[in-house]
Formats: sequence, structure tokens, C-alpha cells
Amino acid sequence: MPTPTRPSPRRRRFRTAAAVVAAVALTGSLTAARSAPNTSLPGEPPRTPVATGYGGAVSSVSPYATQAGLNVLKHGGNAVDAAVATAAALGVVEPYSAGIGGGGFFVYYDARTHRVSTIDGRETGPSTMTTDFFIDPKTGQPLSFTEAVNSGLSVGTPGTLKTWTTALDKWGSIPLKKALQGGIDIAQDGFVVDPTFNAFTAMNQARFSQIVPTAKLFLPNGAPPAVGSVFKNPDLAKTYKLIAKEGPSVFYHGVLGQEVANTAQHPPTIANPTMNFRPGVLTASDLAHYTAPVQAPTHVSYKGLDVYSIAPPSSGGTTVGEALNILSNFDVSPSDQVQALHTYDEASRIAFADRNRWVGDAAFSNVPVKGLTSALYGKERSCLISPTSTLTSPVKPGDPSVPGGGTTCPSGTPTGTEYTGTEGLSTTHLVTADRWGNVVSYTLTIEQTGGSAITVPGRGFLLNNEMTDFDFTPVHPGQPDPNLPDAGKRPRSSMSPTILLKDGRPYMALGSPGGATIITTVLQILVNHLDLGMSLEDSIAAPRASQRDRSVTDVEPAFLTLPQVPALEALGEKFSLVAPSGTPTPEIGAATGLEFLPNGEIQAAAEPARRGGGSAMVVHPVR
Ligand code: GLU
Repeated sequence: MPTPTRPSPRRRRFRTAAAVVAAVALTGSLTAARSAPNTSLPGEPPRTPVATGYGGAVSSVSPYATQAGLNVLKHGGNAVDAAVATAAALGVVEPYSAGIGGGGFFVYYDARTHRVSTIDGRETGPSTMTTDFFIDPKTGQPLSFTEAVNSGLSVGTPGTLKTWTTALDKWGSIPLKKALQGGIDIAQDGFVVDPTFNAFTAMNQARFSQIVPTAKLFLPNGAPPAVGSVFKNPDLAKTYKLIAKEGPSVFYHGVLGQEVANTAQHPPTIANPTMNFRPGVLTASDLAHYTAPVQAPTHVSYKGLDVYSIAPPSSGGTTVGEALNILSNFDVSPSDQVQALHTYDEASRIAFADRNRWVGDAAFSNVPVKGLTSALYGKERSCLISPTSTLTSPVKPGDPSVPGGGTTCPSGTPTGTEYTGTEGLSTTHLVTADRWGNVVSYTLTIEQTGGSAITVPGRGFLLNNEMTDFDFTPVHPGQPDPNLPDAGKRPRSSMSPTILLKDGRPYMALGSPGGATIITTVLQILVNHLDLGMSLEDSIAAPRASQRDRSVTDVEPAFLTLPQVPALEALGEKFSLVAPSGTPTPEIGAATGLEFLPNGEIQAAAEPARRGGGSAMVVHPVR
């Protein structure tokens, strides 16, 4: 495959709403539905969605967090130092999406060795977890998702702090206490509450009000903090300071770990709660045994680029990789944007069928990572796609270990039940690069927006509900399910922090939150950029569609205004504005990315509008 021609960020950028409308009318461009750029609130650092320049870059969803990372770069820190500083600040300003009570996946490109490494900071199941963990012993039925989320049962062993210390120990240049300082300052001095923080708090108000320390911290005076007010978290400042002083052992082998376990075991509910927060089983010993292994990334080649992402327990790398390998067999180009979108949807559908069958924690079942990401398997699976019709879901999963990939074309009658999964706007993604050429792409989470809703008393951070990423019962009865709960096991993730290299040098870095829609968001941005020739910022801004082996493709409202939609519907595609959880999908994902331009400039990009607009900064801006 030829290397894609890199679109000029300047040439393809639509400057005004009128220009966007004109361009859409002229070309039917998929970049049509960009909302108005977000403006900073008084007192906030700049919230610019795009920055171009030299000397290093940071992009995250928050101007405070991006600024914290940039400060580290400006003082001589490297991309890893900046990533940890940005993440620590996100733990303060995005406490419902990230923090030391959660986990995540860290991808690192080392400019000296030209190698990509990853850290698996995924939460683990407590040592007493069993396959029937989410079955209610009284009824014999699985707990509802909501009952499981809002409980101590959903809390897994947190991996975020171990991820930070592993990254700093291996590749960083500053001590943990320096990386935490930006977060400490923000927690002490406060940050300006934006509409997203206010809305996320309001969304969680009912369950937050059930937990004493959560209500005290996040519902001052019984209500979400007002937009424009200053929110401080002195407890978290103290917690970070304690970790800065004592080191991570205070968390994994000390008082903080004991408090985390105790809080999960005895959720600190109000007297006479209206919700039943079941006690969890996490122990201090689970924390003491936690590891965040450094492991090899997944790898596929696409259009002459090397695409690296996260291996299991995340399904991000294998699923994005398989879909790209399928797409390699088609001419996906701007000259036929109906077929481009159709092929993107179908490739994603097939890759999700395989993901659901094969991917879980590789320490517990055989996950055919090499097979799923092989070019041959992508070719074998690609025969399922027809340019004149749409596949019916659920698609029969293939098998990369058998000749022909276990695929018969055309596809047979669908079997089993449709995949359902969570797809909230929880989680957060950041990217950093430094002047030496090192790059980080890091997604971190506490799972749901607001996690388990349980704050550790006096410590200022929420505990994750990552254990609800396990399947409560086998997804397809009679078919093995690699994602059932187990002791020490890591639930399957969709996080897809990704780094692309061209000839061994950084080409792009990207990722997104959004549950299972993370995978489609990353894939769609890559298709927009590499196949449709959009700039990174336009690729991020474009309206999103997410096909996850379901009869309908979830879309953002703006997607339905695209001129390609009637032709896609004529091919049999069905679009929905409501996800399987019943949640409307006004927004899918909230991406950040970096593009390394041939002239040596870095372009940092964030969402212009989704999630209130992100914040991209470079050390030495050129425009
Ligand atoms: N827990 C999800 C995962 O690991 C991320 C949560 C989200 O983005 O909604 O895939």
C-alpha cells in the first residue's frame, strides 16, 4: 500500500462556519458538522483545540491538566514526566474520569531506541473473585449493571499510581513528587468549574448523595458546584503530598491501601440510604500484590505506517488493528465517501465480532493476538464485506488459527445475541511529546463517569467500578467467553492509546475515552486522516459513527446531516442516536492527538466542542 499523502493542516482547515457549509455543499465532506469552538471561562488557562509549534506538546481534555504537563516540559522534563504530571492534574480536574482510584494503559515511544513499549495499569479482580461474582446468590440472576456499579463489588485493585511510578522509573527524568506538584497546586488553589464538570456532577447527584464523603466533596451545599465557581480539593492535595513524601508504597503497602480496601468493603453510605451499596471484597493484600507490567504493544502496518497500541487485557490494539487490516483490502478514498463510510462500519462490525469472542485477559485464556492482527486474517475476514449490502449482526466470529480464518463468504445466518456494552463519556486520554522526540499516548479511567461513586473518606478521590467491565454471564451461551470475572484477572478494556510511526519516527499519537466506542473513535480518526486525507484536527472534529457488531450503528446527531447517509441507508445501514444502554449519543468519544509534521513541527489537537472542548498546547507555538 502506498504511504498516504499527508494533508496540509493549513490547507484543509475550514476557518469559518460559512466556509464549512460551503465546503460541505461542494464536496460532501465528512468534516461538516463541527460545532462552535469552545471558549475558556474567566480564570481558566487557554482552551485551544489546536496548537502547532516546537519543543514538545501536550493535549488533554482540560486546560489545567495540559498546562501542568506543559510546565514540566518547559522546565526540562520529558514526555513521560509531562504525561504523569498531566494525568495527576486530570485526577484533580477530571476526578469523575481519572485518578489514583482507577487504572489505564500507557504507550511510550522512545526516541533513542525507536521502540514502542506499553504499561498495563489495568485494575485486577480481588483475590476472592469467582466467575459467578456478579450473580446475586439470592435470586441466581446477574445483578443489574446499575446495582453492580454502585457497590463495593465493582472496585478493582487500582493501577494508576503504579503506572505512573513504573513509567517514571523506567523512562522519566523527574521524581514522582515533582510530577505530582502541578496536581497538588490545582487541588489546593482550585479550578474554575466548567459546564462539563457541573453536568457530570448533576448526572451523578442521586448516587453521590448516598455516600457521605462523596456528597461532602462533590455536592457542597447539597448541589453540584456552580459553573464559574472555584472548586478545591484539599483532601486530594494532602493525599498527593503524602504520596510525594512517602512514595507509592504508602498506597500499595501502607495506610492508603488499607483505607482503599476498607472503603470498598464498607461503602460509607449515609444513614438509611435509598440505594443498596453492596460491600466489596478488595483487600490490602490485593493492593500489595498489584503489578503494572511493561509489555509489548500490538502492531499492524497500514499504508506504510506502523500502528502500535495496547495488547490484552485491552481489546483496543487488536480490534483497531484487525479493522485496519480488513480496510487494507479496499480502496477507501475521498472519491467515494459512501463506500468509505460503509467499509469503515463493516470492518469495525467484523472486528468487534472477533473481539467479543477472543479477547480477554491473556493470562487467563488463549488470546490469539498475533492471529487477530495478522494481515492474512484481515484479508480472510474482508471477503464478508459487500459494496452493495450491509452485514447482519451478530456476525459469526472467525478463528485466526484455522485455514481461511474460519470465515465463509458470504456470511451465514447470524447466531447469538447482540453485543451490548457501556459507551459513556467517562475516561480521559492525553498525549505528550518532548523536544527529544519521545511520545506518550495514555488513556486512564475509573470506568463510569464518577466510578463506583465511593470516595475514600478524607482522601479526595473516587474508587473505580472497573470490575463491571467483566461480562456478568457468558455473552454467547455455548461459546467460550474470555471476559468472565476471576481472581487477579483484568477485565477486558476498549482503551486504545495509539502511536503511529513512519520509518521508525513518530507520525501521530491519539486516543479517546468512550467505553467500547473508544475503538471506533480511534479507527474513524485514522480513516479520516489516512484514507480521506483530512487534517488531524478535522479528523477529530468530524461527526462520529460507531458500529460494534450491532444491528444499528450509533451515531452523533451531526452524522445524520451528512449527504452520504441516504445512500448508506439504501445499502441497509441503520443508524441510531441511542446507545444500547438507552443513553442518547449526542457525543461519541473525546479524542486528543498529536501529528508530527514533516517540517519538524508538532500539531497538538483536541476536541473543538465535544466534552466542552479540549486543550492543546505546544512549548514554542508558531501560530
Ligand atoms: N472501562 C472502559 C474500558 O476500559 C473505559 C470506560 C469508558 O471510556 O467509558 O474500556
